[in-house]
Amino acid sequence: MQKNKRNVWAARLMLATIVFAVSGCALFEKVKATVSALEDSKVADNYEPSEQYYIGRGVSAVIVDKYPPVEVKDQTSEKQITYINEMACFIEAASKRVTRSAVKLGDYTSRSYDEQQHVYNLVLFKGIQVGLLQTDDVTAFATPGGFLWISMGAVNMCENEDELAAIIAHELAHIILDHGMANYRTAYKGEIFSSTLSETWFSGDGLGANFGRLVTTFAEDAFKGYNPEQEFEADNWGTRAMAESGYAPDAMVKMLQRVEAYEKAHDVDPEDYLAHHPPIGDRIKAVQDLIKKENLKGNPNTMTPEGVTARNTRFAETFK
Ligand SMILES: [Zn+2]
Repeated sequence: MQKNKRNVWAARLMLATIVFAVSGCALFEKVKATVSALEDSKVADNYEPSEQYYIGRGVSAVIVDKYPPVEVKDQTSEKQITYINEMACFIEAASKRVTRSAVKLGDYTSRSYDEQQHVYNLVLFKGIQVGLLQTDDVTAFATPGGFLWISMGAVNMCENEDELAAIIAHELAHIILDHGMANYRTAYKGEIFSSTLSETWFSGDGLGANFGRLVTTFAEDAFKGYNPEQEFEADNWGTRAMAESGYAPDAMVKMLQRVEAYEKAHDVDPEDYLAHHPPIGDRIKAVQDLIKKENLKGNPNTMTPEGVTARNTRFAETFK
């Protein structure tokens, strides 16, 4: 199978070389046209909902290759997966107002309201889907197409449902604010020449040929983390979304403090990590400032002692 594939690609490369020698000029024009389309982000922006969904599935395949997923094999695992999916769908549904008002205020992105609505249609093609990863590492991933992966290490780090909601809300923000596609567009332009050539030679309009490359780019991003500005945005959107959906916004601070303690205890390589993540102390301070400035308290109906106890009980029954 592998050998056959290599032979096919070798044949394509040889054909491409011949085509290039014979019709270099026409090809050059085609490359130039494709480059200018890419510079306008037309090609990278042009993914249909189903395409983004399959990109997300491809990236998910890379993630579960590294960390095995929790499979539904008994009542406990079924309950855990159902619970976390219900939480994510609830937070996503309750937080649409956060995105709308933020876009209107010009926060997060320079996108218009219509453009953000378009992103919603793209990323929520089949809704949010959450999977659990069977590892003690504290980690979480968000991909285009609405896939969210959270490790059991991250779940077990949380003391209650509100802290788990903070992880979910932060990861959801990366999906809703389209961070993966934004990074892809930047990376794509950086390597424009080689990818344009492979597209032009191997598949007409280029979307199909680029799929493997695309999945690899997203998977690399997923493992490296998003850039500092996007991390601040995700904390900001996530904290507002928590307040909007009835959770305690300051659970975002608690969750970040737990991540900080985990990083100190596990010697996370700061050189590698800080290239993409802002120092966690700065993130904690930004969330505290936001809560104070916006006076975020959560919904008074859910922040009652009975409400808090009910959430803590069902969390403990599901995961502890
Ligand atoms: Zn993040």
